Amino acid sequence: MPARILIVEDNHANHELVAYLLQAHGHSTLSAWNGAEGLRLIRDAAPDLVLCDLQMPVMSGYELIEQLRRDPSRPQMPIIAVSAASMVGDAASALACGFDAYIAKPIEPETFISGIEQLLPPALRASVPRDL
Ligand code: MN
Repeated sequence: MPARILIVEDNHANHELVAYLLQAHGHSTLSAWNGAEGLRLIRDAAPDLVLCDLQMPVMSGYELIEQLRRDPSRPQMPIIAVSAASMVGDAASALACGFDAYIAKPIEPETFISGIEQLLPPALRASVPRDL
């Protein structure tokens, strides 16, 4: 069974690449373009997993995770920070702020899906790669 994965990312090229890779492996995607939209979709759509950029207009990934941490009634799912590896300290600070994992950009298509599927419940991992 595929997973429903929310992409919270303001960069169009990154957003489309991630959506393409996930869909090519059978998952369905939801899209938000800033932290405020992401927060609304987390609450309204309860996706199975969230991929969240850190630097975004309107509301950053840091603000998004901070608001979720303060909300005990929020739906529970892994929330993964995705940010440029060149941003020194992002990985450590993202984990300290409450993200469940960190993936560095640029996205490596060969390892991206397997990294995400490790964070999904086994029942949601059964994706079969189509030709990429
Ligand atoms: Mn960004």
